[in-house]
Amino acid sequence: MYINNVKFAKSAHEISGELALESVERIQEIGEFKGTIKYTLKGSVDRLNRPTLILSIYGIISALCQNCLQPLELSVENQTPITIFFNEDQLDAALFSESESDVSDGVLAEDEFDVMQLVEDEVIMLLPYAAKHDSCIGLSYHDKVESPFNILKQII
Ligand SMILES: [Zn+2]
Repeated sequence: MYINNVKFAKSAHEISGELALESVERIQEIGEFKGTIKYTLKGSVDRLNRPTLILSIYGIISALCQNCLQPLELSVENQTPITIFFNEDQLDAALFSESESDVSDGVLAEDEFDVMQLVEDEVIMLLPYAAKHDSCIGLSYHDKVESPFNILKQII
């Protein structure tokens, strides 16, 4: 889905939809993440009258626990204001300047701005780097139960 992001922001448009993690190759390359994320993109202008996109995402991500390799579910909920800039210098200055900036994320003004790309980028940032159950019993469980391969060795 493509939008003119400046017009979208200034006219306070709103769209929403869903992203199935299984269908996003970039996400599947990172890990076995499943689930459906809902998103809403809202146009707005900030207090400095800059066009802004407000991206809200929420949903449940199913990942594999890196300790016991069993599935675990994580709920994500995030809202990010994304300021639109008209040239790269302004964007870089806002995002990478040493001084305090009130910009949390930014993009360039585009006639054909890719909404799904933005949603995917946001979801990727929120993916757990090494997901683990809060109280994972994985390792202690494996310590106590003898591996079938060891038992097999004894039989042979
Ligand atoms: Zn676990």
